[in-house]
Amino acid sequence: MSLFAKYKFNGGLKLAGHKKISMQEKIADATIPAQLIVPLQQHIGRVAKPIVNIGDKVLKGQCIACLGDNKNNTVTAAIHAPSSGEVIAIEQHVIPSMLKQTGDCITIKTDGKDTWHNDINPINDPLSLDNDSLKQIIFEAGIVGLGGAGFPTHLKLTTKNSNKEKPIDTLIINAAECEPYITCDAALIQEQATRIIQGIQFIQHALKIKKCIIGIEDNKPQAIKALELALDDKTQEQIEITQVPTRYPAGGEKQLIQVLTGKQIPINKLPRDLGMICHNVATTYAVANAILDGTPLIERIVTVTGDNIEHPKNMRVLFGTLMSEVLNSCGYTESNNQDIIMGGPMMGIHLDSANYPVIKTTNCILVKNNKTKTDPLPCIRCGECARVCPANLLPQQLFWYSRSKDYDRLQEHQIFSCIECGCCDYVCPSHIPLVQFYRFAKNEIWTQESDKKISDHARERHEYRQYRLERKKAEDAERKAKKKALLNKKQGIDTSADDAKKSAIEAALQRVKEKQTAVPKNTSHLTVEQQKKIKEVDRRRSNKINPAAIDTTTKNTIKPKDDNNG
Ligand code: SF4
Ligand code: SF4
Repeated sequence: MSLFAKYKFNGGLKLAGHKKISMQEKIADATIPAQLIVPLQQHIGRVAKPIVNIGDKVLKGQCIACLGDNKNNTVTAAIHAPSSGEVIAIEQHVIPSMLKQTGDCITIKTDGKDTWHNDINPINDPLSLDNDSLKQIIFEAGIVGLGGAGFPTHLKLTTKNSNKEKPIDTLIINAAECEPYITCDAALIQEQATRIIQGIQFIQHALKIKKCIIGIEDNKPQAIKALELALDDKTQEQIEITQVPTRYPAGGEKQLIQVLTGKQIPINKLPRDLGMICHNVATTYAVANAILDGTPLIERIVTVTGDNIEHPKNMRVLFGTLMSEVLNSCGYTESNNQDIIMGGPMMGIHLDSANYPVIKTTNCILVKNNKTKTDPLPCIRCGECARVCPANLLPQQLFWYSRSKDYDRLQEHQIFSCIECGCCDYVCPSHIPLVQFYRFAKNEIWTQESDKKISDHARERHEYRQYRLERKKAEDAERKAKKKALLNKKQGIDTSADDAKKSAIEAALQRVKEKQTAVPKNTSHLTVEQQKKIKEVDRRRSNKINPAAIDTTTKNTIKPKDDNNG
């Protein structure tokens, strides 16, 4: 039995779903391509380093890149060979990212045999393992959040919490899938609900969490049914399915938590701070596979949909397969006037071609015919953007400050709480590409902060070096003095005469110093004659500035300096 959410989040949009078009068929397996171009950076964190060389034969599931330290608290993810074959290149290739960058990739010429590596070890009794052992399995399997962000999953399995008063007691499973066109999670739930529930149980066991809430949008009745059927009497007690209203972006982590629990995650805080941890539904499936089958993350479900695609569907695709090959297998017709997007139309990454490899965060390949672009007009301060912002921000203010590069004000206005959902862009009557401004500004702030960190680090190093040199100089001098004293003592040289001479010189120097800094002598003990002379001088001075003593015929009006009476 599923429940209905009692709470709402602010703003958001009701968008056309376009989901049915890719849900007509079952999940299909993409063919193994002749070459796999596997990027070393498919996640948030440190780039994995290749541990294979050109010419090496590799087997499916074999680790081909990692940091090598085997520490399961590092922000990184291992990369595995998606199929068997030979490494023919380790070189730069375009990789899908907001920054339109290239990155190191390992190219494998596949042998078509798809032979698994020997090092694939299913776990027979996973619930007997402790937190660290489960975390290590997930770390070695290279699992990252499959909802889009690509944050390494092993780091979200740590039981430590900065807020000691609030232990982690609630697991939230994000199955909302709120962006139009994307259906990979819904398709996976329909076909693999039991495995997903097993994955949830392993995460609950690792984190010792009793309570789990699966949040799913109410426009997925078949997926909801599949989850309900997958729960048995025991799991029903601990796992609750809650339907949330279909409203974009209900799948945003903070928005989903608010709808499910009524709790708002404060700015600069994480769900963990409120005792919650959130995983995507496809991630739980990958966790179950890694534990029950011993298989690392080498493939994922990708929705292939949009215009010019004859057979839109969900496909199981090996990482490193070029998007062009996936599109072609779905009857794609290329045209000049179209956009290829990795992800959905609201938050996806616009690509300049289909020559990009599928990576761990590729949930959808969407082709959209380009509409005629309207030039942006000036902001009319209508406030529509603020009305729809789910993060309760002031998008028009963020726009002004981004445009004027006022990065301090941008941070005061919480630009980093912007989830780049695109709701403000969507409703802006002036067609201002607001999110582009925010992305640019965020990047600039990050760059400045990292430059500052580098220069601070260099200054600290310089200061420390100076300190070390000074200290060494003092230590050398002290050592020399001690050595000399010891030598003199050994040779029986009496240094007392030298010492006396030295003391006399020091005393003379001290006297000179005192004279130089001496305060003028007190004048209270002057002779009578001297005091008379001083009085005479004072009298003459006072006559000079006394108006009564001034010759009035000159009309001069000299005043004493301290006369303030006008
Ligand atoms: S919606 Fe567009 S025009 Fe209206 S206030 Fe926001 S930025 Fe300005
Ligand atoms: S993109 Fe950012 S500012 Fe715009 S509506 Fe979404 S969260 Fe708000």
